[in-house]
Amino acid sequence: MYKLYLIVCCFCYAFHSAISTNRIPKIGIVGGGIGGTSCAYFLKELFEGKCNITLFEREIIGGRLQIQNIGGKYYEAGGAVIHPQNKYMLNFLETLGLHMKKLKGSKFGIFNGEKIIFQESDWYFVTIADFFWRYGFSVFELWKDVKSMLEDFSSIYKLQEENYAFTTVNGLLEYMSPSFRNMTQETLSFHLQKKGYSKRLLDELVQSIMMVNYGQTNNISAFAGFVSLAGADPDLWSVEGGNKLVPSKLLTKSKAQLIHGDVSEIVLKKDGSYELTYVDESSSTTVTEDYDIIILAAPLIKGKRNIKFTNFQKDFDQYEATYHQLTATFVKGKLNPVAFKSPFVPDEILTFNPDLLFNSIGKVTGVNEEAQQETSDVYKIFSNQPLLEKEIDYLFENVDIYKEIDWLAYPHYNPPEKLTPFFLYPGLYYINAIELAASAMEMSCIGSKNVALLAFNLWNNLIDKVDYHKRSFKDEL
Ligand SMILES: Cc1cc2nc3c(=O)[nH]c(=O)nc-3n(C[C@H](O)[C@H](O)[C@H](O)COP(=O)(O)OP(=O)(O)OC[C@H]3O[C@@H](n4cnc5c(N)ncnc54)[C@H](O)[C@@H]3O)c2cc1C
Repeated sequence: MYKLYLIVCCFCYAFHSAISTNRIPKIGIVGGGIGGTSCAYFLKELFEGKCNITLFEREIIGGRLQIQNIGGKYYEAGGAVIHPQNKYMLNFLETLGLHMKKLKGSKFGIFNGEKIIFQESDWYFVTIADFFWRYGFSVFELWKDVKSMLEDFSSIYKLQEENYAFTTVNGLLEYMSPSFRNMTQETLSFHLQKKGYSKRLLDELVQSIMMVNYGQTNNISAFAGFVSLAGADPDLWSVEGGNKLVPSKLLTKSKAQLIHGDVSEIVLKKDGSYELTYVDESSSTTVTEDYDIIILAAPLIKGKRNIKFTNFQKDFDQYEATYHQLTATFVKGKLNPVAFKSPFVPDEILTFNPDLLFNSIGKVTGVNEEAQQETSDVYKIFSNQPLLEKEIDYLFENVDIYKEIDWLAYPHYNPPEKLTPFFLYPGLYYINAIELAASAMEMSCIGSKNVALLAFNLWNNLIDKVDYHKRSFKDEL
């Protein structure tokens, strides 16, 4: 059966590359977030400029990387923090002439809904001792596990430098580590219990990290859970001026043509190329254009997909995923000690209790400010539902301004995950397939580099550079 799948794929590759001989490919990218814009940049590099790229964005460049004005200063409203080992995001700083803003972690406390059960001390060693007392040595074991996962994860960079691409997310994960694929099939809770971690560590600390990073509990997949745990690193950073500067500058650097338009249909033509239809934002007219390659750089969200796929022999509903609704509310004010039943409320409040009004509350600094959190009086609250005014008034005293932004933020993880392939059809590739493994800026960059390589290799018939050691999985395709 697997052999048959490979033969069909090879036929598809050959069919697609037959139309590609000695021509400059015309590539359409749907979506101008970090995934779409980095893909445009990688494609320009790989094809050495010998490709014609159009990027479609229906809203604003940056997608889930956006900033919000609160009282004259701008704050990160979407994707905010970047891990020090995120190689692509780091490289973009240098390539694009941007600067790193190191984030100084504010003092955090864990609130169970009734009281603050753990509070970071002003003294590092006291905090460490408190951690030991409450959670034992397993905190260090967990830290070591996360570090080891990051090492395996980093192996993808070298392979991508050598131009290898994968048709499936499973293939890419399996290359990084044989255990990663299984980690998408089981919950974080099950995975960590198997490893012998204590119930208290899981229920309190680990779940608080899941709540702040993904708005979800330890029932998310172990792989997404580990990506989220890595986000608890003390050396996180963001881009001075706002993370969204990366996608806008990547787009400029790629020299792709930007069309402000909403893509509504993709039709597979008899010769294997595509017809893409979009509604032009400025004129409200419907326009149809032909492309050799189409790259989907936006998630196919269940109940929200507005792109129709015509003449394909498969049902695209199977690739849709449920996305988690999240509200980010900015409040200029002061935390109310009464709400947290403590005279000293820390600047960052985490919780593991999914029944509270919020997932996390933290003091934030402006995108252009030094990380002197003490001077800031702006807080960002993440909640799964928009907060009522009276709820904000309960959590804060002296509320000056508040603003809320609703997101379909990331997949609602529900393992075992049925991962979607990058390769949907010859010449039709899907970057956000990687989000069902884990959603983060760097994940989008790894996905976009893979898709750029897939498009380049298949266009140039470099089949040896696709699916390293045949690591592909028929169940995804
Ligand atoms: C509140 C929040 C906090 C987060 N925190 C972090 C964090 O701290 N660190 C981290 O690494 N990640 C974080 N993330 C996740 C990170 O922001 C995302 O994984 C990443 O930005 C996704 O980028 P993308 O390009 O794949 O998708 P998107 O940014 O969603 O881009 C897709 C784009 O496609 C456009 N589009 C969709 N359909 C069409 C169409 N039919 N036609 C034309 N255009 C279309 C959309 O308008 C959008 O601009 C966070 C996300 C949210 C929402």
